[in-house]
Amino acid sequence: MMDLKDLVRPNIWALKPYSSARDEFHGSASVFLDANENPYNEPYNRYPDPLQWELKERIAELKDVDRNSIFLGNGSDEPIDLVIRAFCDPGIDTIVSIAPSYGMYEVASNVNNVEFRKVTLTPDFELDAEALLEEVDEWVKVIFLCSPNNPTGNSLNRDEIYKILNNFEGIVVLDEAYIDFSAEPSFLPELKKFPNLIILQTLSKAWGAAGLRLGMAFASPEIIAILNKIKYPYNVNVLTQKQALDLLNNEGQMLEQLRRIMSERIRLQAALPELPIVHKMYPTDANFILVNVGKADSVYNKLVKKGVIVRNRNNVTLCNGCLRITVGTPEENDALLKALKSL
Ligand code: PMP
Repeated sequence: MMDLKDLVRPNIWALKPYSSARDEFHGSASVFLDANENPYNEPYNRYPDPLQWELKERIAELKDVDRNSIFLGNGSDEPIDLVIRAFCDPGIDTIVSIAPSYGMYEVASNVNNVEFRKVTLTPDFELDAEALLEEVDEWVKVIFLCSPNNPTGNSLNRDEIYKILNNFEGIVVLDEAYIDFSAEPSFLPELKKFPNLIILQTLSKAWGAAGLRLGMAFASPEIIAILNKIKYPYNVNVLTQKQALDLLNNEGQMLEQLRRIMSERIRLQAALPELPIVHKMYPTDANFILVNVGKADSVYNKLVKKGVIVRNRNNVTLCNGCLRITVGTPEENDALLKALKSL
């Protein structure tokens, strides 16, 4: 990996971050007159912990990582944006990613005026590391990968991911939003081996808390310190910190929901290919299934009329004719199958 100092934008490296009242005093006291808060209306009157330490302690325990290797943000979308802002000079630096994949990498690049290069996956949605590395030049600071990938559902081949980690000198972001549904293990145990690796996970999928907005980035303490430097001081609010902690303290509930979703995924995987309208179903390691239905726009619109909303991926690279179907409750999946059967 290149020196972190040479990878980070010079203005960010030199930045003296804002120091909040809650940053400056640590410890217990009974009178807090330091942050211009209203003394009434507890608990909302107080600013949240800017570094969310209680939550990070629990995540460190659950994920078996050092608490200084964790960044928490307003969904994964926050660290996606922060990584670009930390490492890519607008109008100069470049990002490389795969297509198709999660749309926010490209949108966040465009918002930041950073060139975004896409390397198309193979027809069976595999990553070709050599093809991707051919797109790398001296301006490429970050590579975004997503495994299991959205919208295709498959996990990227691990050897190809290793090739990129071993041969790219910049930052590799590996988005593992769907990792809890996957048969493949997470790359988290590899963090110490690869100082250029940033792994993204979220409470929005398996933990069932998309509404809370809590995204996690795991990386070396040095990279985490850079992200902390440029985030909004109080980026994760009091309610989210509290609810997320309650949720993470109830792993059993998540595992039970996961079990149900996985068993429904198996049921859908058996039922969907039996339907005449389904031309092809792709393998999945996530909580959704990509299916080719031929005339996807028309099938999508007919499903909408029946009150069943799926994601139309017809205009996405390699996904012509495809719909992406999230695994729901047994009742929801029955409604989907009934609607598809009636078309
Ligand atoms: N990464 C991937 C691959 C996703 O599919 C999504 C949501 N669809 C996200 C990240 C966003 O997650 P969050 O809700 O944590 O912002």
